[in-house]
Amino acid sequence: MTKIPIKQIDFGGEKYDVVHEEKLRDESDDQRLSGSIRHGQCRITLDSSEHLQRQASTLMHECVHYLITMHDLETKDTINPDRKEMLISTIALGMVTIIKRNPNFIRLLQEQV
Ligand SMILES: [Zn+2]
Repeated sequence: MTKIPIKQIDFGGEKYDVVHEEKLRDESDDQRLSGSIRHGQCRITLDSSEHLQRQASTLMHECVHYLITMHDLETKDTINPDRKEMLISTIALGMVTIIKRNPNFIRLLQEQV
């Protein structure tokens, strides 16, 4: 399968490498993952056996994980732990849709803001 051609995500203060792994699994080898983020290593890993479209939405999902962790929003007062993944996926999918459907908005952000 095609690997998404993104090697790094620039979060402003930090840059995370984007790496690929076939049939990615969690650390305890219990389950398959589409992606993971390791803050200690500044690394996002994507399952390269998935479709490009899926890798792109997973990359955005991991980016939202970054924002939540780095802004200390992962507390029970802020995010219900049982709903965290659903919330992150909803925001990530929404961001992908907004970016895809509004190139003029993205261009304005890149060039004028
Ligand atoms: Zn997640």
